[in-house]
Amino acid sequence: MALAHNLGFPRIGRDRELKRALEAFWKGDLDEAGLRGTGARLRAEHWQLQKQAGIELLPVGDFAWYDQVLTHSLMFGVIPERFRKAGAARPDLQTLFAMARGATGGCCGGHAQEMTKWFDTNYHYLVPEFTVDQQFSLSWEQLFEEVDEAQALGHRVKPVVIGPLTYLWLGKVKGEEFDKLELLERLLPLYAEIFQRLAAQGVEWVQIDEPILVLDLPQDWKSAFERAYNLLQQEPLKKLIATYFGGLEDNLGLAAGLPADGLHIDLVRAPEQYPAILDRLPSYKILSLGLVNGRNVWRCDLDKTLEVLRHAHERLGERLWVAPSCSLLHSPVDLEREDQLDAELKSWLAFAVQKCEEVTTLARALSEPQAADVRAALEQSRAVQASRGASRRIHRPEVQARLAAIQPGDSQRQSAFAERIGQQRARLNLPAFPTTTIGSFPQTPAIRLARQAFKQGKLSGAEYTEAMHSEIRNAVKMQEQLGLDVLVHGEAERNDMVEYFAEQLDGYAFTQFGWVQSYGSRCVKPAIIFGDLSRPQAMTVDWISYAQQQTDKVMKGMLTGPVTMLMWSFLREDISREQQARQLALAIRDEVTDLEAAGIRIIQIDEAAFREGLPLRRSGWQGYLDWATEAFRLTASGVRDETQIHTHMCYSEFNDVIKSIAAMDADVITIETSRSDMELLEAFEQFAYPNEIGPGVYDIHSPRVPSTEQMVSLLRKAAQRIPAQRLWVNPDCGLKTRAWPETREALANMVAAARELRAAG
Ligand code: GLN
Ligand code: ZN
Repeated sequence: MALAHNLGFPRIGRDRELKRALEAFWKGDLDEAGLRGTGARLRAEHWQLQKQAGIELLPVGDFAWYDQVLTHSLMFGVIPERFRKAGAARPDLQTLFAMARGATGGCCGGHAQEMTKWFDTNYHYLVPEFTVDQQFSLSWEQLFEEVDEAQALGHRVKPVVIGPLTYLWLGKVKGEEFDKLELLERLLPLYAEIFQRLAAQGVEWVQIDEPILVLDLPQDWKSAFERAYNLLQQEPLKKLIATYFGGLEDNLGLAAGLPADGLHIDLVRAPEQYPAILDRLPSYKILSLGLVNGRNVWRCDLDKTLEVLRHAHERLGERLWVAPSCSLLHSPVDLEREDQLDAELKSWLAFAVQKCEEVTTLARALSEPQAADVRAALEQSRAVQASRGASRRIHRPEVQARLAAIQPGDSQRQSAFAERIGQQRARLNLPAFPTTTIGSFPQTPAIRLARQAFKQGKLSGAEYTEAMHSEIRNAVKMQEQLGLDVLVHGEAERNDMVEYFAEQLDGYAFTQFGWVQSYGSRCVKPAIIFGDLSRPQAMTVDWISYAQQQTDKVMKGMLTGPVTMLMWSFLREDISREQQARQLALAIRDEVTDLEAAGIRIIQIDEAAFREGLPLRRSGWQGYLDWATEAFRLTASGVRDETQIHTHMCYSEFNDVIKSIAAMDADVITIETSRSDMELLEAFEQFAYPNEIGPGVYDIHSPRVPSTEQMVSLLRKAAQRIPAQRLWVNPDCGLKTRAWPETREALANMVAAARELRAAG
């Protein structure tokens, strides 16, 4: 029989217990014993849930107080100098949280470690910091303690560690430059030590995550894999090397041949690699097939999946294991918690607990195909596939007809930028270095309370509208007083830039408890695209029109773009990302033209997540960029030349995508640049980016108020790279997380900076 195992389980708890405990601990409302107690309870519960679901080999080491990469940094003693306590031999929880969140008071000094996205997920890890004289020493007992803990509960466990190459790959060199791969020889003895200790605890298998095997790797990294695993081969444990988030492609031979006892591959993301793997796998190795999607919320099509599995079973027999595609960290915890979803929709979904059950059903379908519960599960899966295939809620002819009718001209503005900009300048009549903001103003407690009261029915629709109108009036008055040129309404009515729109589109569903960890105690609850998408009615026109009525200045309309909507939602699997992007594009396009018809002269379409959508492999980039750019253009091109389209992207790396950014053809793009000292503009300069640019002149992540001189100096630097007549003046991003006093001061200084530049001519 094929062994059912799991690569990792979400750690936050089905009611986000870990989030609550962490935040209480940070506030001082919970002591360390209380926090540790919650952690232990959650681990016990999660092992139990997986075991009940039939998982035979349970992951240990998937729990983390903040982030699993950070746990490894502690385990290896990769603790930057600024977090080392004088006299203390070992790091403790305080050290861990200081590294994650920056020092707060007593412990040790310094800013938090940098955080960045875990591959192409919305999970963020803490970037290890390596120095040229980096030493490694086993400094953290958590993994061994948790193995003991699980064994004491009677579980058969498989510890999970991040592999040495992936760990080094994820880190960053600090101080003197050197090749971090040189650290491998120093790091490997720690793995040997860890494996020996685990073996002494009676562990048989260890899972070594090496997801970088699905990336384009430089040759020296590939060679390092062989070196590393040859060395580790002598260690007593059986090793399962786990790869996920994509196909092995050119690393397939390498991965298959590594001296380890098993290999896990992701057949959800990369089903095409299956035959090649079978060919290349040495006959002593276990093959673990990742067949249940750990990254999405849909039930698995068991029949279809069983076709591959039966084939594999014939070839591999006992050497076959079954698992989710990747750790279930990226999936919500338990569907059973949802009691507001309608029965049909709910029957289509599976969260982590249900995914474990699916893995087990698949494994048992090989050995006990006649078992009543297996047959019932297969029956149910068939019914789900049939109902989804035929559902009118999913497949909507009117949406498909509209998609089919798209013409090439629909994603083309009427005239070229050079022609449009003249008309826009004449109509808008703005000064040089026009000032604006990115959209949101502080989401004050009063705003959040009003929205809550409205959702609970304590505030009527009219009362809520009036509360938001009053916020808009204040925002407009404030901006007029500050002397900003292009105003915004402030986005008070929006909980979140994606959810706000998703709630108003047909084809989106929402869960109550579908939380997924984003970083630390932060969780997100992505909306679910379940069917063809359309916009039943205007979404923002009333708010923006109201705002425009309060002022003679230009009011900018504010929308979220199709690619960002897509990246921050759970997607359908029955149609491509590209098709879903196009549906979103048409829906938002209608909003754009409605805003124009309502007299709005500037419309901003935010694409904060545009770059996030890039595939992990370079070979996939162009295809993605083509359709993503096209989706944006389709959204933006329904308007007249005189209507100015803005876009906003809050990140920094443009070098490798600048061509597509230019192809989006937004009249104005605002970007985050202040922390790079305008160096990011180099990409735009070298490409001779033709349209207008608003390089952010101050960092909105900090409450610090930037001085006028600082912003003048940044703008001067910008003007060395971009012709001054094409520059806008704005902050890096929206101001919703800021408070009003610092916002007002910072914007006053920003307006003064723009004036100074104008005066200097
Ligand atoms: N318009 C949004 C805001 O100002 C943009 C946010 C973002 O880019 N992340 O909040
Ligand atoms: Zn932004």
